[in-house]
Amino acid sequence: MELLNMRLNVLLVTFLTFGVFLACKAPEEESGRSTANAIFPKGSKGPSQFFTGTVWVTGLVDNDSIFTTSAGSVLFEPSARSNWHSHPAGQILIVTEGVGYHQIKGKRKEVIRKGDVVKCPPNTSHWHGASKDSSMTHIYLLPNTEKGMVKWMEPVSDQEFLNE
Ligand code: MN
Repeated sequence: MELLNMRLNVLLVTFLTFGVFLACKAPEEESGRSTANAIFPKGSKGPSQFFTGTVWVTGLVDNDSIFTTSAGSVLFEPSARSNWHSHPAGQILIVTEGVGYHQIKGKRKEVIRKGDVVKCPPNTSHWHGASKDSSMTHIYLLPNTEKGMVKWMEPVSDQEFLNE
């Protein structure tokens, strides 16, 4: 009986918590979802110090000493992009929505689409962002964070962004 009571209590608490969560849920626009079927919340705006245009960043995995990995999702609105930057231990991008661009310094700009997986080698200057007319969302994975996460450089100019 004691055990049954405990189970009922757990159920009740679960139900109440979830019920309150649903009741408090903001309308679509304010809840941070980019679209009705977006995988992750939009998160918060990426700072203009590091990004051109409107960018939304949501953390998924906080860096810690056990996994030494940081992961998150970034939504770039059309024409938005990161500054030039590099990662001491490299970076993996997994495109989950839209069409965007990625460029490694000295190489041609590449078009990346939903489903593409991109590896940015360690200590290599590059940028990533939306394409001119379409937004792009990618998950980023930063491995071996004990080596560092990111070194930011100058913004990607409009000419660099539009170069074929
Ligand atoms: Mn990067």
